[in-house]
Amino acid sequence: MNRISFVTATLATRKRIALVAHDHCKAFLLDWCQRHREKLANHELLATGTTGALLSERLKLPVDSMISGPLGGDQQIGARIAERRVDMLVFFWDPFEPQPHDPDIKALLRVAAVWNIPVACNESSADYMLSSHLLEQQHSYRIPDYSSYLAERC
Ligand code: PGA
Repeated sequence: MNRISFVTATLATRKRIALVAHDHCKAFLLDWCQRHREKLANHELLATGTTGALLSERLKLPVDSMISGPLGGDQQIGARIAERRVDMLVFFWDPFEPQPHDPDIKALLRVAAVWNIPVACNESSADYMLSSHLLEQQHSYRIPDYSSYLAERC
């Protein structure tokens, strides 16, 4: 794919928020979600397997859990981003620990960049993201225009 054009899409008021944390970062994500529970409760939550199980237990909120990250859960979330079924990603990845599924992590972050969804990779960014006025309203954003690319090629 050499040249890509873009179109404007609209994000709904209720966001689909993906939550992922590596093992040493899970406690930070759980605490962060607990702190923002009231806001998060207005949105749809999904997560990789272990993160999701811990979150639904702690928050007592529905969390759509994939399988565990190292078993393909990051790829499942990435696929949903490409299908435009995820609007935001909070991913506390561990900067101090190599991960066996590093290629999947890179792929997840890449596809999130491709589809121009907000990504927070640490607590401070996640705080900024959740305090945005855009969280609770519809707003426009730019996404790749695959259909016009296809039309040019076929
Ligand atoms: P987990 O996966 O929530 O199943 O631990 C997270 C990850 O490693 O990507």
